Amino acid sequence: MEAVNVKTSKTLSDLSVADLETRLAAWGFKASHAEALLRAYYETGDETGWRDLLLPKGLTERLHEEFLVNRPEQVARQVAEDGTTKLLLKLADGRTVETVMMTDFREDRVAGCVSSQVGCAMGCDFCATTKTGFERNLTAGEIVEQFLALRRAAAEVGKRVQTLVFMGMGEPMLNLENVLEAVRRIAPNELGALGWRQITVSTVGIVPGIEAMAAANLNIHLAVSLHAPDNATRAKLLPMGKRFGVEEILAAADRYQVKTGRPVTIQYCLLKGVNDSPEQARQLAALVGVRRMHVNLLWYNPTGLSLKGVAYERADVETGEAFVEVLRAHGVVAHFRRPRGRDIDAACGQLRRRMIAGVNGGTLGGTDGSQERS
Ligand code: SF4
Repeated sequence: MEAVNVKTSKTLSDLSVADLETRLAAWGFKASHAEALLRAYYETGDETGWRDLLLPKGLTERLHEEFLVNRPEQVARQVAEDGTTKLLLKLADGRTVETVMMTDFREDRVAGCVSSQVGCAMGCDFCATTKTGFERNLTAGEIVEQFLALRRAAAEVGKRVQTLVFMGMGEPMLNLENVLEAVRRIAPNELGALGWRQITVSTVGIVPGIEAMAAANLNIHLAVSLHAPDNATRAKLLPMGKRFGVEEILAAADRYQVKTGRPVTIQYCLLKGVNDSPEQARQLAALVGVRRMHVNLLWYNPTGLSLKGVAYERADVETGEAFVEVLRAHGVVAHFRRPRGRDIDAACGQLRRRMIAGVNGGTLGGTDGSQERS
Protein backbone atom coordinates (compact mmCIF):
# COMPACT_ATOMS: atom_id res chain seq x y z
CA MET A 1 0.00 0.00 0.00
CA GLU A 2 3.03 2.24 0.42
CA ALA A 3 3.05 4.78 -2.41
CA VAL A 4 6.28 5.93 -4.03
CA ASN A 5 6.93 9.63 -3.59
CA VAL A 6 8.88 11.12 -6.49
CA LYS A 7 10.08 14.68 -5.99
CA THR A 8 10.03 16.65 -9.21
CA SER A 9 11.57 20.04 -9.94
CA LYS A 10 10.55 22.51 -7.24
CA THR A 11 7.66 24.80 -7.91
CA LEU A 12 7.32 27.99 -5.90
CA SER A 13 4.23 26.46 -4.32
CA ASP A 14 6.35 23.64 -2.90
CA LEU A 15 7.60 26.19 -0.37
CA SER A 16 6.01 27.22 2.90
CA VAL A 17 6.45 30.80 4.09
CA ALA A 18 9.20 29.60 6.44
CA ASP A 19 10.97 27.80 3.57
CA LEU A 20 10.92 30.92 1.43
CA GLU A 21 12.07 33.11 4.30
CA THR A 22 15.11 30.87 4.67
CA ARG A 23 15.83 31.08 0.95
CA LEU A 24 15.47 34.85 0.78
CA ALA A 25 17.78 35.33 3.73
CA ALA A 26 20.34 33.01 2.15
CA TRP A 27 20.20 35.05 -1.07
CA GLY A 28 20.72 38.30 0.84
CA PHE A 29 17.13 39.57 0.67
CA LYS A 30 14.88 40.45 3.58
CA ALA A 31 13.05 37.34 4.81
CA SER A 32 10.00 39.49 5.48
CA HIS A 33 9.22 39.60 1.73
CA ALA A 34 8.37 35.89 1.77
CA GLU A 35 4.82 36.02 3.08
CA ALA A 36 3.78 38.92 0.83
CA LEU A 37 5.29 37.20 -2.21
CA LEU A 38 3.55 33.92 -1.58
CA ARG A 39 0.25 35.53 -0.59
CA ALA A 40 0.18 37.56 -3.81
CA TYR A 41 1.05 34.42 -5.77
CA TYR A 42 -1.82 32.51 -4.14
CA GLU A 43 -4.29 35.36 -4.58
CA THR A 44 -3.95 35.56 -8.33
CA GLY A 45 -2.78 32.06 -9.04
CA ASP A 46 0.23 33.55 -10.81
CA GLU A 47 2.86 36.25 -10.39
CA THR A 48 0.83 39.21 -11.61
CA GLY A 49 0.27 40.35 -8.00
CA TRP A 50 4.02 40.86 -7.54
CA ARG A 51 3.80 44.05 -9.59
CA ASP A 52 2.05 45.72 -6.65
CA LEU A 53 4.77 44.79 -4.18
CA LEU A 54 7.82 46.89 -3.51
CA LEU A 55 10.33 44.16 -4.14
CA PRO A 56 14.11 44.67 -4.23
CA LYS A 57 15.82 44.55 -7.59
CA GLY A 58 16.70 41.08 -8.75
CA LEU A 59 14.37 39.17 -6.42
CA THR A 60 11.77 38.03 -8.93
CA GLU A 61 14.52 37.10 -11.39
CA ARG A 62 16.17 34.99 -8.70
CA LEU A 63 12.87 33.28 -7.92
CA HIS A 64 12.49 32.38 -11.58
CA GLU A 65 16.03 31.05 -11.68
CA GLU A 66 15.46 28.80 -8.69
CA PHE A 67 11.84 27.70 -9.04
CA LEU A 68 9.18 26.82 -11.52
CA VAL A 69 6.60 29.60 -11.38
CA ASN A 70 3.10 29.21 -12.87
CA ARG A 71 3.27 25.46 -13.23
CA PRO A 72 1.78 23.12 -14.30
CA GLU A 73 0.90 23.77 -17.94
CA GLN A 74 -2.70 23.23 -19.05
CA VAL A 75 -2.60 20.70 -21.89
CA ALA A 76 -6.32 20.06 -22.31
CA ARG A 77 -9.54 21.69 -21.24
CA GLN A 78 -13.09 20.49 -21.58
CA VAL A 79 -16.09 22.66 -20.86
CA ALA A 80 -19.49 21.03 -20.50
CA GLU A 81 -22.80 22.67 -21.36
CA ASP A 82 -23.45 23.18 -17.64
CA GLY A 83 -20.10 24.99 -17.33
CA THR A 84 -18.29 22.16 -15.56
CA THR A 85 -14.68 22.52 -16.67
CA LYS A 86 -12.08 19.82 -16.59
CA LEU A 87 -8.43 20.80 -16.83
CA LEU A 88 -5.66 18.38 -17.68
CA LEU A 89 -2.46 19.76 -16.17
CA LYS A 90 1.03 18.71 -17.19
CA LEU A 91 3.52 18.38 -14.36
CA ALA A 92 7.22 19.16 -14.56
CA ASP A 93 8.05 15.51 -15.26
CA GLY A 94 5.56 15.32 -18.14
CA ARG A 95 2.91 13.39 -16.24
CA THR A 96 -0.64 14.73 -16.21
CA VAL A 97 -3.39 15.17 -13.63
CA GLU A 98 -7.00 16.22 -13.78
CA THR A 99 -8.57 19.12 -11.94
CA VAL A 100 -12.26 20.00 -12.17
CA MET A 101 -14.19 23.23 -11.67
CA MET A 102 -17.94 23.09 -11.09
CA THR A 103 -19.19 26.52 -12.07
CA ASP A 104 -22.84 26.04 -11.11
CA PHE A 105 -22.03 25.82 -7.41
CA ARG A 106 -23.26 29.39 -6.80
CA GLU A 107 -23.85 32.45 -8.93
CA ASP A 108 -20.48 33.95 -8.08
CA ARG A 109 -18.66 30.90 -6.73
CA VAL A 110 -17.31 27.63 -8.05
CA ALA A 111 -16.44 24.33 -6.39
CA GLY A 112 -13.13 22.71 -7.20
CA CYS A 113 -11.97 19.10 -7.24
CA VAL A 114 -8.26 18.25 -7.12
CA SER A 115 -6.20 15.10 -7.56
CA SER A 116 -3.79 13.74 -4.97
CA GLN A 117 -1.90 11.20 -7.07
CA VAL A 118 -1.01 10.54 -10.68
CA GLY A 119 -3.22 7.53 -11.37
CA CYS A 120 -4.42 5.33 -8.55
CA ALA A 121 -3.60 1.92 -7.12
CA MET A 122 -6.92 1.32 -5.39
CA GLY A 123 -8.47 -0.63 -8.26
CA CYS A 124 -12.08 0.43 -7.63
CA ASP A 125 -13.77 -1.59 -10.32
CA PHE A 126 -16.07 1.15 -11.65
CA CYS A 127 -13.41 3.88 -11.85
CA ALA A 128 -11.66 5.19 -14.96
CA THR A 129 -8.58 6.39 -13.08
CA THR A 130 -7.56 2.97 -11.94
CA LYS A 131 -7.41 1.69 -15.54
CA THR A 132 -4.18 3.62 -16.14
CA GLY A 133 -2.60 2.36 -12.91
CA PHE A 134 -0.64 4.25 -10.29
CA GLU A 135 2.39 6.36 -11.20
CA ARG A 136 3.30 8.55 -8.25
CA ASN A 137 2.17 10.80 -5.44
CA LEU A 138 1.77 14.50 -6.09
CA THR A 139 3.88 16.91 -4.09
CA ALA A 140 2.13 19.43 -1.86
CA GLY A 141 3.13 22.11 -4.36
CA GLU A 142 1.57 20.21 -7.25
CA ILE A 143 -1.68 20.00 -5.30
CA VAL A 144 -1.52 23.71 -4.49
CA GLU A 145 -0.92 24.43 -8.19
CA GLN A 146 -4.19 22.69 -9.04
CA PHE A 147 -5.96 25.01 -6.63
CA LEU A 148 -4.24 28.00 -8.23
CA ALA A 149 -5.21 26.75 -11.70
CA LEU A 150 -8.81 26.57 -10.47
CA ARG A 151 -8.51 30.12 -9.16
CA ARG A 152 -7.37 31.34 -12.53
CA ALA A 153 -10.10 29.40 -14.33
CA ALA A 154 -12.75 30.73 -11.92
CA ALA A 155 -11.53 34.30 -12.38
CA GLU A 156 -11.87 33.87 -16.15
CA VAL A 157 -15.62 33.33 -15.71
CA GLY A 158 -15.92 36.08 -13.08
CA LYS A 159 -16.17 33.76 -10.08
CA ARG A 160 -14.21 32.66 -7.03
CA VAL A 161 -13.40 29.22 -5.64
CA GLN A 162 -15.66 28.53 -2.67
CA THR A 163 -14.93 24.90 -1.80
CA LEU A 164 -12.32 22.30 -2.61
CA VAL A 165 -12.68 18.53 -2.53
CA PHE A 166 -9.95 15.92 -2.79
CA MET A 167 -12.00 13.59 -4.97
CA GLY A 168 -10.02 13.62 -8.18
CA MET A 169 -7.43 11.06 -9.20
CA GLY A 170 -5.85 9.05 -6.43
CA GLU A 171 -6.51 8.03 -2.83
CA PRO A 172 -5.63 11.05 -0.66
CA MET A 173 -4.97 8.94 2.44
CA LEU A 174 -2.05 7.26 0.68
CA ASN A 175 -0.44 10.65 0.13
CA LEU A 176 -1.73 12.23 3.30
CA GLU A 177 1.43 14.06 4.31
CA ASN A 178 1.47 16.04 1.07
CA VAL A 179 -2.33 16.44 1.04
CA LEU A 180 -2.33 17.95 4.52
CA GLU A 181 0.69 20.09 3.73
CA ALA A 182 -1.21 21.46 0.73
CA VAL A 183 -4.30 22.02 2.89
CA ARG A 184 -2.17 23.95 5.38
CA ARG A 185 -1.26 26.38 2.58
CA ILE A 186 -4.62 26.54 0.78
CA ALA A 187 -6.84 27.03 3.85
CA PRO A 188 -5.28 29.72 6.09
CA ASN A 189 -5.59 33.44 5.53
CA GLU A 190 -1.85 33.97 5.14
CA LEU A 191 -1.81 32.08 1.82
CA GLY A 192 -4.76 30.48 0.01
CA ALA A 193 -7.39 31.91 2.38
CA LEU A 194 -9.98 29.36 1.26
CA GLY A 195 -10.90 28.41 4.83
CA TRP A 196 -10.56 25.07 6.60
CA ARG A 197 -14.26 24.20 6.51
CA GLN A 198 -14.32 24.67 2.76
CA ILE A 199 -12.09 21.64 2.25
CA THR A 200 -13.15 17.98 2.07
CA VAL A 201 -10.84 14.99 1.83
CA SER A 202 -12.40 11.83 0.46
CA THR A 203 -11.29 8.23 1.00
CA VAL A 204 -12.35 4.74 0.01
CA GLY A 205 -11.95 3.87 3.68
CA ILE A 206 -8.25 3.71 4.58
CA VAL A 207 -8.69 3.51 8.34
CA PRO A 208 -5.12 4.52 9.37
CA GLY A 209 -5.49 7.54 7.07
CA ILE A 210 -8.74 8.56 8.74
CA GLU A 211 -7.04 8.24 12.11
CA ALA A 212 -4.04 10.27 10.94
CA MET A 213 -6.29 12.97 9.53
CA ALA A 214 -8.16 13.15 12.83
CA ALA A 215 -4.84 13.38 14.68
CA ALA A 216 -3.78 16.26 12.43
CA ASN A 217 -6.60 18.18 14.07
CA LEU A 218 -7.47 20.35 11.10
CA ASN A 219 -10.98 21.69 10.82
CA ILE A 220 -11.62 20.00 7.46
CA HIS A 221 -14.34 17.63 6.30
CA LEU A 222 -14.04 13.89 5.73
CA ALA A 223 -15.99 12.02 3.06
CA VAL A 224 -16.08 8.22 2.89
CA SER A 225 -16.86 6.45 -0.37
CA LEU A 226 -18.87 3.52 0.94
CA HIS A 227 -20.81 2.43 -2.18
CA ALA A 228 -22.22 -0.66 -0.44
CA PRO A 229 -23.62 -1.34 3.03
CA ASP A 230 -22.19 -4.87 3.33
CA ASN A 231 -18.66 -6.17 3.11
CA ALA A 232 -19.31 -8.77 0.40
CA THR A 233 -20.75 -6.30 -2.12
CA ARG A 234 -18.22 -3.65 -1.19
CA ALA A 235 -15.26 -5.99 -1.64
CA LYS A 236 -16.40 -6.72 -5.19
CA LEU A 237 -16.46 -3.03 -6.02
CA LEU A 238 -13.49 -1.81 -3.99
CA PRO A 239 -10.54 -4.15 -3.37
CA MET A 240 -9.71 -2.10 -0.26
CA GLY A 241 -13.03 -3.36 1.12
CA LYS A 242 -11.32 -6.68 1.81
CA ARG A 243 -8.81 -4.95 4.06
CA PHE A 244 -11.12 -2.62 5.96
CA GLY A 245 -14.69 -3.66 6.76
CA VAL A 246 -17.69 -1.35 6.74
CA GLU A 247 -18.07 -1.30 10.53
CA GLU A 248 -14.34 -0.64 11.04
CA ILE A 249 -14.44 2.26 8.58
CA LEU A 250 -17.55 3.77 10.12
CA ALA A 251 -16.07 3.40 13.60
CA ALA A 252 -13.04 5.41 12.42
CA ALA A 253 -15.41 7.95 10.84
CA ASP A 254 -17.28 8.14 14.18
CA ARG A 255 -14.06 8.99 15.94
CA TYR A 256 -13.30 11.62 13.30
CA GLN A 257 -16.70 13.22 13.94
CA VAL A 258 -16.22 13.22 17.69
CA LYS A 259 -12.70 14.64 17.44
CA THR A 260 -13.44 17.37 14.91
CA GLY A 261 -17.15 18.03 15.36
CA ARG A 262 -17.43 17.88 11.56
CA PRO A 263 -20.20 15.61 10.22
CA VAL A 264 -18.82 12.94 7.90
CA THR A 265 -20.29 12.54 4.42
CA ILE A 266 -21.00 9.07 3.10
CA GLN A 267 -20.74 8.81 -0.67
CA TYR A 268 -22.73 6.15 -2.43
CA CYS A 269 -22.72 5.69 -6.20
CA LEU A 270 -25.83 3.82 -7.31
CA LEU A 271 -25.05 0.94 -9.69
CA LYS A 272 -27.92 -0.88 -11.32
CA GLY A 273 -28.56 -4.29 -9.78
CA VAL A 274 -25.40 -4.08 -7.67
CA ASN A 275 -26.06 -1.79 -4.71
CA ASP A 276 -29.40 -0.11 -5.42
CA SER A 277 -32.01 -2.43 -3.85
CA PRO A 278 -34.48 -1.36 -1.13
CA GLU A 279 -32.87 -3.90 1.20
CA GLN A 280 -29.46 -2.31 0.67
CA ALA A 281 -31.02 1.10 1.32
CA ARG A 282 -32.38 -0.25 4.63
CA GLN A 283 -28.97 -1.68 5.50
CA LEU A 284 -27.33 1.65 4.74
CA ALA A 285 -29.94 3.47 6.79
CA ALA A 286 -29.29 1.14 9.72
CA LEU A 287 -25.59 1.98 9.54
CA VAL A 288 -25.77 5.74 9.18
CA GLY A 289 -29.14 6.51 10.80
CA VAL A 290 -27.67 6.25 14.27
CA ARG A 291 -24.82 8.54 13.26
CA ARG A 292 -24.94 12.19 12.22
CA MET A 293 -23.54 11.34 8.81
CA HIS A 294 -24.97 12.71 5.58
CA VAL A 295 -25.41 10.50 2.52
CA ASN A 296 -24.58 11.82 -0.93
CA LEU A 297 -26.01 9.65 -3.65
CA LEU A 298 -24.23 9.76 -6.98
CA TRP A 299 -25.45 8.77 -10.42
CA TYR A 300 -23.09 6.69 -12.51
CA ASN A 301 -22.23 6.95 -16.20
CA PRO A 302 -20.96 3.72 -17.75
CA THR A 303 -17.27 3.63 -18.73
CA GLY A 304 -17.32 0.38 -20.68
CA LEU A 305 -15.94 -2.85 -19.33
CA SER A 306 -14.31 -2.59 -15.93
CA LEU A 307 -10.99 -4.19 -14.97
CA LYS A 308 -12.94 -7.28 -13.96
CA GLY A 309 -14.89 -7.23 -17.22
CA VAL A 310 -18.13 -5.92 -15.70
CA ALA A 311 -20.27 -3.41 -17.61
CA TYR A 312 -21.69 -1.36 -14.75
CA GLU A 313 -24.85 0.63 -15.44
CA ARG A 314 -26.46 3.65 -13.83
CA ALA A 315 -29.37 2.81 -11.51
CA ASP A 316 -32.82 3.63 -12.90
CA VAL A 317 -34.23 6.98 -11.80
CA GLU A 318 -37.21 5.33 -10.08
CA THR A 319 -34.90 2.93 -8.27
CA GLY A 320 -32.68 5.79 -7.13
CA GLU A 321 -35.64 7.80 -5.90
CA ALA A 322 -36.97 4.80 -4.00
CA PHE A 323 -33.51 4.32 -2.49
CA VAL A 324 -33.30 7.87 -1.19
CA GLU A 325 -36.86 7.69 0.15
CA VAL A 326 -35.97 4.62 2.23
CA LEU A 327 -33.00 6.50 3.68
CA ARG A 328 -35.11 9.55 4.50
CA ALA A 329 -37.88 7.40 6.00
CA HIS A 330 -35.24 6.19 8.45
CA GLY A 331 -34.26 9.73 9.37
CA VAL A 332 -31.11 9.84 7.26
CA VAL A 333 -30.14 13.16 5.68
CA ALA A 334 -29.62 12.11 2.08
CA HIS A 335 -29.69 13.77 -1.29
CA PHE A 336 -28.49 13.30 -4.84
CA ARG A 337 -25.56 15.27 -6.09
CA ARG A 338 -26.46 17.37 -9.10
CA PRO A 339 -25.27 15.59 -12.26
CA ARG A 340 -22.52 17.62 -13.86
CA GLY A 341 -20.40 17.52 -16.97
CA ARG A 342 -22.23 14.68 -18.63
CA ASP A 343 -21.27 15.85 -22.10
CA ILE A 344 -17.55 15.76 -21.25
CA ASP A 345 -15.30 13.14 -19.63
CA ALA A 346 -16.93 13.75 -16.27
CA ALA A 347 -15.45 10.93 -14.26
CA CYS A 348 -12.08 11.21 -12.60
CA GLY A 349 -9.28 9.84 -14.75
CA GLN A 350 -11.32 9.75 -17.90
CA LEU A 351 -9.89 12.75 -19.74
CA ARG A 352 -6.36 11.69 -18.85
CA ARG A 353 -7.04 8.16 -20.06
CA ARG A 354 -8.47 9.53 -23.28
CA MET A 355 -5.40 11.71 -23.84
CA ILE A 356 -3.00 8.87 -23.06
CA ALA A 357 -4.83 6.71 -25.57
CA GLY A 358 -4.69 9.58 -28.06
CA VAL A 359 -8.42 9.42 -28.56
CA ASN A 360 -10.40 12.55 -29.42
CA GLY A 361 -7.48 14.84 -28.60
CA GLY A 362 -9.05 16.12 -25.41
CA THR A 363 -11.82 17.90 -27.25
CA LEU A 364 -15.45 17.94 -26.26
CA GLY A 365 -17.75 15.07 -26.92
CA GLY A 366 -16.88 12.30 -24.48
CA THR A 367 -20.07 10.65 -23.33
CA ASP A 368 -18.83 7.80 -21.22
CA GLY A 369 -18.37 9.39 -17.81
CA SER A 370 -18.47 7.35 -14.63
CA GLN A 371 -19.52 8.53 -11.19
CA GLU A 372 -20.69 12.10 -11.07
CA ARG A 373 -18.57 14.61 -9.27
CA SER A 374 -19.76 15.95 -6.03
S1 SF4 B 1 -12.49 5.77 -7.10
FE1 SF4 B 1 -10.82 7.01 -6.22
S2 SF4 B 1 -9.71 5.55 -4.92
FE2 SF4 B 1 -10.98 4.31 -6.30
S3 SF4 B 1 -9.63 3.85 -8.07
FE3 SF4 B 1 -10.78 5.72 -8.56
S4 SF4 B 1 -9.42 7.41 -7.95
FE4 SF4 B 1 -8.69 5.55 -6.92
